[in-house]
Amino acid sequence: MNARRPEPPPARDLSYEQYSGRACVWCGAQLTSGAVAAGISRGKIGAVVLDIGVYACPLHANGPGVALDREA
Ligand SMILES: [Zn+2]
Repeated sequence: MNARRPEPPPARDLSYEQYSGRACVWCGAQLTSGAVAAGISRGKIGAVVLDIGVYACPLHANGPGVALDREA
């Protein structure tokens, strides 16, 4: 089965660190090693396209679901 990863949040909802690829797009943790590409976060301000590749920590490699349950 091919697990579908959720789309990252829109670019305007990301912190600067997340937008810069320095923090996990799902939990905001600082990325040091083992970061994985999480997809493209999409956004636009007027005519300026903000689409950018974002990254996730290893816990959230497949999206926010499983790892967030574990953190509780
Ligand atoms: Zn994370």
